[in-house]
Amino acid sequence: MRTTVGIIGAGPAGLLLARLLHNAGIDSVVLESRDRAYVEHRQRAGILEQGTVDVLRAAGAGERMDREGLPHDGIELRWQRRRHRVDFPALTGGRSVMVYAQTEVCKDLIALQLKEGGPLLFEAEALAVEGADTDSPSVRFRHEGREEVLECRYVVGCDGFWGVARQAVPAELSRVFERTYPFGWLGILADVPPSHDELVYARHDRGFALLSMRSPSVSRLYLQVPAGTDADSWGDEEIWDELERRLETADDWRLERGPITQKSVTPMRSYVHEPMRYGSLFLAGDAAHIVPPTGAKGLNLAVGDVVTFARALSYEKETGSAELLDAYSGTCLRRVWQAERFSYDMTTMLHPAPDATPFDHRLQLTRLERVAASRAAEADLAEGYTGFPLD
Ligand SMILES: Cc1cc2nc3c(=O)[nH]c(=O)nc-3n(C[C@H](O)[C@H](O)[C@H](O)COP(=O)(O)OP(=O)(O)OC[C@H]3O[C@@H](n4cnc5c(N)ncnc54)[C@H](O)[C@@H]3O)c2cc1C
Repeated sequence: MRTTVGIIGAGPAGLLLARLLHNAGIDSVVLESRDRAYVEHRQRAGILEQGTVDVLRAAGAGERMDREGLPHDGIELRWQRRRHRVDFPALTGGRSVMVYAQTEVCKDLIALQLKEGGPLLFEAEALAVEGADTDSPSVRFRHEGREEVLECRYVVGCDGFWGVARQAVPAELSRVFERTYPFGWLGILADVPPSHDELVYARHDRGFALLSMRSPSVSRLYLQVPAGTDADSWGDEEIWDELERRLETADDWRLERGPITQKSVTPMRSYVHEPMRYGSLFLAGDAAHIVPPTGAKGLNLAVGDVVTFARALSYEKETGSAELLDAYSGTCLRRVWQAERFSYDMTTMLHPAPDATPFDHRLQLTRLERVAASRAAEADLAEGYTGFPLD
């Protein structure tokens, strides 16, 4: 099997890349280790930055998002029973975000790819990238019980944090920057209308809580829990009681409860692998970097990477110049590090660490007070949340 771009992974990065390349007249093959249903139902991100919304629309993948997505113009911060709304358009010159689940983005892109695009093979597990330092790399993969080879001009590793693509970069060239946090998020999906019309980020001495939503009838809520917590060790009523405590306000706001349909624990990690390119192999999305979910940046960074790659390859096709491909790693990493910084700031402002001292607690409260009191601090948060521009 032969193609121009071999894409490993059909998460948001791989699927969107296949779509962008198709629109640019460049052929690709996508290999995905899981089956279609698994990919379409894996609960993850839910916030699309303005730039991501614009990219999906321009790619012809925004029709259902525009119909069913929920445009949001702000978030609410809560601490010490206080509430403070951050108004994105007023602080950023009109930018906002869209609540539209990653599952739905993937469903839309899969449907488009199967209808109009190149091959998308499910249950096709990449085993290794070979010849990454040559002009004819290949991906060895297993599909329908047979081992096969996909020969390419370029390989893009969109296979997430646990994928195989990154392993093809020689250890002596890899630099890893990493931080793990001593807490994670216990996330639930519940069949109940959201108790607030915008996301609520709450800092409480007992831990962080987040109220978000997937649709007008489905709530998505999170609790900070110690790293390694087993989701099943929390009973449903216990989760609602704890959410109520951490989200409490001084006014008459109330948290609506409903049946919990799913619960899971997500670890919190910051991670960057440099460089994001080795020869003919390019890394994109979670394969190259991870952010803690507090800043809602992971999916959006993946989108930024594949837009950068697709533009660079189109430029090479049009002009014969590899200049933008050569700049890929540096271009992506500038944006990645801005998102790492923002996600770290949001995480450390809102999550009391298990070993936090009274001094640390006061600093967190002071950072929140600063956002509420200073338009410059508030605008910095709004700019980061609505997204850093694509170069
Ligand atoms: C609970 C949670 C909440 C989150 N919330 C947000 C949010 O609000 N906003 C946000 O922007 N981000 C959020 N994120 C992060 C976001 O979901 C990820 O950053 C995003 O999925 C990255 O997309 P990706 O395509 O790079 O990787 P992935 O989505 O991980 O996709 C990688 C794909 O590669 C496949 N694969 C792996 N190995 C192989 C192999 N060997 N061969 C073939 N296929 C392979 C996998 O099955 C998978 O389908 C959240 C993450 C979690 C876990």
